[in-house]
Amino acid sequence: MMRFIATWVLFSCFLSNQSLYAQLRAGAATSNITPELGAEVVGGFLPFPATHVHDELHARCLVLDDGNTKIALVVCDLLGLHRSLSVEARRLIEESSGIPASHVMISATHTHSAATALGPKRYSSDETLTDYQRFVARRIADGVKRAVNLLRPAEIAFGQVDVPEHLFNRRWFMKEGKVPVNPFGKIDKVKMNPPAGSADLIEPAGETDPTVSFIALREARTEEKQEGDLISIFSAYSLHYVGGVGDGAISADYYGYYCDALKRLVSSVESDPTFVAIMANGTSGDVNNINFAQPRGRKLPYEQMRYVAEDVAVKVSTAITKLTWQSEAKLAAAYRELDLKWRVVDEALMSWVQETEAKVPATLGKNELGPIYAARIKRLAAASPETKTPVQVLRIGDICIGTSPCETFTETGLEFKQRCAFKQSFMVELAHGYYGYLPTPRHFDLGGYETWPGTNYLEPQASVKISDALIELSQSLRD
Ligand SMILES: [Zn+2]
Repeated sequence: MMRFIATWVLFSCFLSNQSLYAQLRAGAATSNITPELGAEVVGGFLPFPATHVHDELHARCLVLDDGNTKIALVVCDLLGLHRSLSVEARRLIEESSGIPASHVMISATHTHSAATALGPKRYSSDETLTDYQRFVARRIADGVKRAVNLLRPAEIAFGQVDVPEHLFNRRWFMKEGKVPVNPFGKIDKVKMNPPAGSADLIEPAGETDPTVSFIALREARTEEKQEGDLISIFSAYSLHYVGGVGDGAISADYYGYYCDALKRLVSSVESDPTFVAIMANGTSGDVNNINFAQPRGRKLPYEQMRYVAEDVAVKVSTAITKLTWQSEAKLAAAYRELDLKWRVVDEALMSWVQETEAKVPATLGKNELGPIYAARIKRLAAASPETKTPVQVLRIGDICIGTSPCETFTETGLEFKQRCAFKQSFMVELAHGYYGYLPTPRHFDLGGYETWPGTNYLEPQASVKISDALIELSQSLRD
């Protein structure tokens, strides 16, 4: 009998080693990155100190292992993160988990009620990290390490569900003479966030992308359990953020509510390790949650973000029931830093800066856009020699994710889905750095907030160059 047991144990070890090699494994964990009270909340034009935490901020981490290659995906509840933070977090991850820096994707959700992880140098590829940035980098690395600790045999599926009703393009054509003069004394062809319900609106200047794309991971089936518990769902939706938080509050916005709602819907409270939902920002530089065609009603704090989050979570949880699961997925990644140029500050713009600053404080109020943009443009003119614009492509079986470090327009995300070498593809924005808005050349011509120097950081051809680089990288990851 003993000999039989010994043989059986040996045989099953052999089997499990075999399956470890071919079988996908997945693990997921969250790290709390909530700042201290008093930290500066960013998102508006002027930062203010946090006086309350409504809900905790997290770095949500997913690690996949195909037996040969590991990749990690991390989404942080931040407005954005500086490139140097991503570099440091990936250095720590490589040190503690052995996953190469090129194989780790780190992005921000774009919640407007978080402390800044952008640091003091906006128009610079490298900076010395602040205490909070160092803390976030360490917490990201801890989260990835914990996800590695939880790696277990897994099945994977790709899903999509259209949820168009929460998305509105926020750049509008208006009737002749109705677009107000911009801070530079010029009139744009479109207005960002025009008055909702105004009779002066004609039509939006761009599209929305209704698709929530998601990657679902569940524990591999066993003899006892035909359907394993869900490990994680990594999703992306092209919605800027929702907003509407209480005064001075820290909050993960709809992204946090979505993750909580999905967890409630698809997992049991007893499940251990716990299920981790992740919501990344797709490409939403020009798409938000304001229905401009109608006047806006008043809402209680958190009411609208909860409404959007719960609705998207319900639709994703329904779509999960129709997925086709696989137990293998080849993993690969490619990371590149592009030699894009910063937006040029020409002489005319510099004289506008000087004129504007000469007027302060005599005629301009503290909250007026003129001086804010004058200060930004001066810093942009003194930008670092290189942008080192980071782009990345991850291959997860037949799925491909492309990243951009900008508030990327929806058209760019739709173009990636169309041109990508993999049919199941989507983009994640605000990854590995913060490089301002990324209008397409057509939108540069239309003007508006997202194209103003200081809101836009990169050269007008940047969106074309980033798109082409992503397509090239996606082709390089094909078999
Ligand atoms: Zn934004």
